[in-house]
Amino acid sequence: MNITLRRTKIVATLGPATDDPELLARTLAAGVDVVRLNLSHGVADDHRRRARAVRQWAESAGHEIALLADLQGPKIRIERFANGPIQVLEDQPFTLDCQAGAAPGDETRVGVSYHALPEDVKAGDVLLLDDGMVAMDVVEVVGREVRCRVKTGGTLSDRKGLNRLGGGLSVAALSAKDRADIRLAAEMRVDFLAVSFVHDAADVEEARRLLREAGGQAWLVSKIERADAIGNLEAIIDASDAVMVARGDLGVEIGDAELPGLQKKIIREAVRRNRAVITATQMLQSMVTAPIPTRAEVLDVANAVIDGTDAVMLSQETAAGAHPDLAVAAMQRICQGAERQFEPHEDQSPGAHRLDRTDQAIAHAAMLLADRIKVRAIVALTESGATAQWLSRYRSSVPIYALSTTALARRRMRLLRDVLSVSFSEEVDYDAGQTVRAAVQRLFGLGLVEEGDRLLLTHGDQIGSLGGTNTLKLLSVGPNGDPKILRALDQEAE
Ligand code: PGA
Ligand code: MN
Repeated sequence: MNITLRRTKIVATLGPATDDPELLARTLAAGVDVVRLNLSHGVADDHRRRARAVRQWAESAGHEIALLADLQGPKIRIERFANGPIQVLEDQPFTLDCQAGAAPGDETRVGVSYHALPEDVKAGDVLLLDDGMVAMDVVEVVGREVRCRVKTGGTLSDRKGLNRLGGGLSVAALSAKDRADIRLAAEMRVDFLAVSFVHDAADVEEARRLLREAGGQAWLVSKIERADAIGNLEAIIDASDAVMVARGDLGVEIGDAELPGLQKKIIREAVRRNRAVITATQMLQSMVTAPIPTRAEVLDVANAVIDGTDAVMLSQETAAGAHPDLAVAAMQRICQGAERQFEPHEDQSPGAHRLDRTDQAIAHAAMLLADRIKVRAIVALTESGATAQWLSRYRSSVPIYALSTTALARRRMRLLRDVLSVSFSEEVDYDAGQTVRAAVQRLFGLGLVEEGDRLLLTHGDQIGSLGGTNTLKLLSVGPNGDPKILRALDQEAE
């Protein structure tokens, strides 16, 4: 059997476009690992309904799909216009009115929901509206009014986002809506919670505290999308379980020329610091309408894979696109193609970092061996998924089969590159020998390993206990999928 594994994971955002049950099924079946519920749109019941539909499909299809809830965050927005969208022209004056209860906008002015804006900006700043489609120079601040001159004209409509070029607008990371949405995320038992506009590690810790208080177990994903998060990058990564290169807002704040370098830096730092990383936004943007991606988009997805990302993400392409299923299929195809080209390099591994834990040390040893001797796979018996996480930080060409009896751990591992999580319901009797045999037979039964394959296997003395991996075995697969002692490495190859 020749299973073509995809190593890079796919995150797909649900929305109105995927509400049709048949199209949802086709989209998920095309290769979605993690479903994203974007809490910037819709009401709580939309998200509850979508979470339920995904779980029902996964159950009936025998798949495990993880859920990610993405908080809106304190995005600064303009308020509404009295008579619908307006046009602004280059060089015309335009006022942002930051008084509470400002009147609906017109061609010359509009309210801003962020009332502290006059304190945060000064003459000469550039404000970007609607992800940079419209730009304004700040001319002066008078009372609660920020008076601007339009630098790039265009259309403005209700509730468009507002950023400052260079970043630094000082909004707390968690709004009142975010706090309510954290409780919703806990109620929906999502596997990942993404925090928008993270500024520093304290923002992540606060979100984690609120989530745990609400009973949520999700991993925390910090979205790197503010210019002023870059200076705190290492601390933010350390405080998070995963990060997202949120290229939409980040590109607006730092300018698009800085984006490619930063994407590479964020991916490299996350992997080196033992965290997962998602590359997001506009990856296949033209597929919102078109059935195939542009060549530039193909290269963008492939380059993120070559940069070493764990996952690539679809936003509007699936949430509001004409071909959500084709977008996922395109991503899968491009990832697999890029993985064939990918050559792991040294600086993408945490090898130089200190080893703090026994399971981490075992993972390190496994990856050193995997590079030296030809093995079919690394097999991790991992309850929490931690060992698989350590293993997968070493970008190598060997797949990692992670067996866990815990569904939450298996769903979290859906985000980790190179990891295929496999359910394992073997009666745990704390006999490591029996459990190893059952594990190899399970993989053999799934066609993931064959007679003669060599495997590296990690486990703990107390199978079933968390974080207890302390053992590394080298073995081969015998007839009937029984593990066999491997003596001479050269003779038993293929
Ligand atoms: P968003 O985040 O889609 O919630 O804005 C991603 C990004 O900014 O790229
Ligand atoms: Mn964003």
